[in-house]
Amino acid sequence: MRSAWAERDAKQAVDGYGTAGIGADLALRIYSTQLLGRDPKLVMHGGGNSSLKTKERDLAGEELAVLRVKGSGWDMGAIEPAGFPAVRLDPLRRLRARKDLDDDEFARVQRAFLIDPQAPSPSVEMLLHAFLPAVFVDHTHATAVLSLIDQPNSEKICAEVYGERLGFVPYIMPGFTLAKKSAEVFEKNPKAEGLILDKHGIFTFGADAREAYERMIQFVTLAENRLQKNRKTIAVAKIPPQLAPVTEVAPILRGACTLRDANGEGAHKRLILEFRTGDAILAYVNGKDAARYACAGVLTPDHVLRTKPWPLLVPAPQGGQLDGFKQAAQQAAQKFIADYKAYFERNKARTKGAMLDPAPRVVLVPGLGLFGMGASAKDARIAADIAEAAVEGIGDAEAIGRFISAGEADIFDLEYWPMELAKLGARKGLPLEGQIAVVTGAGGAIGAATAKAFATAGAQVALLDIDVKAADAQAKAIGGSAIAIPCDVTNAASVHDAFNKVVATFGGVDIAISNAGAAWQGKIGEVDEATLRESFELNFFAHQKVAQAAVKIMLAQGTGGCLLFNVSKQAVNPGANFGPYGLPKAATLFLVRQYALDYGADGIRANAVNADRIRSGILTDDFIKERSKARGVSAQDYISGNLLGREVTAQDVAQAFLAQALALKTTADVTTVDGGNIAAALR
Ligand SMILES: [Zn+2]
Repeated sequence: MRSAWAERDAKQAVDGYGTAGIGADLALRIYSTQLLGRDPKLVMHGGGNSSLKTKERDLAGEELAVLRVKGSGWDMGAIEPAGFPAVRLDPLRRLRARKDLDDDEFARVQRAFLIDPQAPSPSVEMLLHAFLPAVFVDHTHATAVLSLIDQPNSEKICAEVYGERLGFVPYIMPGFTLAKKSAEVFEKNPKAEGLILDKHGIFTFGADAREAYERMIQFVTLAENRLQKNRKTIAVAKIPPQLAPVTEVAPILRGACTLRDANGEGAHKRLILEFRTGDAILAYVNGKDAARYACAGVLTPDHVLRTKPWPLLVPAPQGGQLDGFKQAAQQAAQKFIADYKAYFERNKARTKGAMLDPAPRVVLVPGLGLFGMGASAKDARIAADIAEAAVEGIGDAEAIGRFISAGEADIFDLEYWPMELAKLGARKGLPLEGQIAVVTGAGGAIGAATAKAFATAGAQVALLDIDVKAADAQAKAIGGSAIAIPCDVTNAASVHDAFNKVVATFGGVDIAISNAGAAWQGKIGEVDEATLRESFELNFFAHQKVAQAAVKIMLAQGTGGCLLFNVSKQAVNPGANFGPYGLPKAATLFLVRQYALDYGADGIRANAVNADRIRSGILTDDFIKERSKARGVSAQDYISGNLLGREVTAQDVAQAFLAQALALKTTADVTTVDGGNIAAALR
């Protein structure tokens, strides 16, 4: 591992932050923290922290010794001055005289000595930084170091690799006791340049930012070099030659890991999946002893928050034998959940908290790779990143010896430590969290508004449109994990590909909003058949293609689902010369009922929205002008020509779709969103 320190960048940081009145020491503290945070081999997703001891003035102007320490929840790679709350150092150090400090006191101490009462809470490792004398203290969970110390004989290996240069602290969970013990270990060998925290990570010290940072690089490099010596290869298990594709495996696993609604009302707790593969991952998941090493615990205890104490390992999915795989995956997931509950029961005396959800967060699939899972695409990505670090770290630990983790009780303590749980932030608990929604015609007004409404409700959304540029612009406007996919809904292969892309990205489909459509006109006795057939292709058969593709995935998941269709006022109340548009829409209205009937027993609901006069690609401003002129009314009177006299918008239609998606006991429903039109009212 090379040092990324660049004098020119360091100087730029000092000059840049200097203009904002920030001292050179803090500027360099920020600079080197960013260097650490940007290398995933050192720091990932909130693991690791750093600090500086300096002098600053408090709000009354008095100069004090302070600890600038990383704030909880800040990402080191993107840290800024606000991410380093200043804490009065002297009272923190005086705490060392205490015998213990319980969680409630610890939480108060985290905020009691802040210079700025509005600053973020300092890291849970704040006291460890405070009790050590070095001016600059850096801490990481470097993967290579973890491979050395997640061993039965870790102390001996550290002595061999680091000699007296690093102190060795036995595993204690973060907090007051670990801080005290670390200071004691350091005081026995005050020449130490840092500390190893067994089964957890590494600290380095420096008189300046560069020294602490480059010592980190040096010690991690020594670990990397040691990992290259006397390696044994991992024995590979027999994998069937024909494997099922990821797009068929993912919905099965997603369904198997869904926590079913105990009340039978369909309010399942679903997860989003992110797939990863590659040579290193395959060597790991295909290992003969994978069930031992991959399930022996976490690489460093705070990974448990994202990955649970162990992953779910399923059998290799043999091609053409998915029924057998589905059964095996469901059994494995049920066993995981039962094992997690037993783990909680064994350890629950150690916490005041209730059991967290028992679903896995990482699935290892021999022959294919691994999946990270989470309530959102972001959480799934983080779980997959950490799982990949485990593949590397545990793989290397096995290559030089035998991987062991911190003990079960220690991992449990961390998983249920309120200070760590606070890092994850309060869960928003949005109504569609964990669900995946596909919207067709999403580049248009109604589709875009619908995609946005579903994303706001917590769903991951895929925006399909034949005009992928339009869909892409809308996906970007929604932000987050929203994706745009090109799709011609009248083409079966295009629909198949688009749904495969959704499954490859998020792991499945829960809600399909079949919205794409276009209007054709013509007097029915004279219209040519080609026009009628063209309209049927888009306004009927395309809905059928989309619904069929969605249902196939929903059945593989086995957790129900929701089909939503955009029918039109034309389906129930024909307009003159609008037969080519109204006829297929009327057929689509019956398609809704047929799906509701045929798949109700599978928990799949089918509903439709019957909207009218929405400004969109079908009802353009020019068209409105033309129609209003023909009727001798103003454009505004035309567009709001309904019983309520209110213009109906794409957002109103989107909210109707959302309400149908959330109404778990409603199927075969048609919701009218037209401001009131008695002639088009459903009976
Ligand atoms: Zn740590």
